[in-house]
Amino acid sequence: MPTDDRNSPVTPFTLQQFICGPVRTNVYVLINPETREAAVVDPAPESRTAIERFLASNRASLTTIVLTHRHFDHVGEAGPIAEATGASIAAHASDVDYLSVPQRTRFMPGYVNPAAPVRVPLVDGDVINLAGTPFVVMHTPGHSGGAICLLHDVSATLFSGDTLFAGTFGRYDLPDSDAPALRSSLIRLAGLPGGTRVLPGHGRETTIGAEGWAADPPLYRGL
Ligand SMILES: [Zn+2]
Ligand SMILES: [Zn+2]
Repeated sequence: MPTDDRNSPVTPFTLQQFICGPVRTNVYVLINPETREAAVVDPAPESRTAIERFLASNRASLTTIVLTHRHFDHVGEAGPIAEATGASIAAHASDVDYLSVPQRTRFMPGYVNPAAPVRVPLVDGDVINLAGTPFVVMHTPGHSGGAICLLHDVSATLFSGDTLFAGTFGRYDLPDSDAPALRSSLIRLAGLPGGTRVLPGHGRETTIGAEGWAADPPLYRGL
């Protein structure tokens, strides 16, 4: 007899994490167990084989690829995977032009990210369906101007990109960084319920409650 769990906070997707590429980016694959619809968050460089094998072994079809921000280690193989699967790429609206052409990176000489044409431009407050379930887009600039976090209210799960990590926060010394904005974004994230599960772009997962420092981040206190 099936269990009736409508009243408990259920995560309506299965979540698989891969760690890929030269800076060990967390790549997340979400699959809806009923419809087999899948989404990928941040398909890092060197992630394509792992993603495509996982989708195939789960008989899942990829509909959406979300980029938490435009840095090469998060964009990676989004373009080629989207082309091969027909999935749409979603990213913050301010990064659409940047992502429309191939990008070189000074962190990996000789490496070129293929273009990642964005079909779904996102802004703060948008709701995007990933694996058939709604996520709220939070624009969290600072590490990068177009950085977003994705909040799944139902299961209290947050994909935090490179804005919030376990015990620390993203760099703010890059050309598209802004320290005061990062500070504001961290304070905003600190306002989420303490039990919110945080899945960052690098390193281990954490919770909002475990990162209490984020309410007064140790950067740019306006001194
Ligand atoms: Zn980054
Ligand atoms: Zn990163």
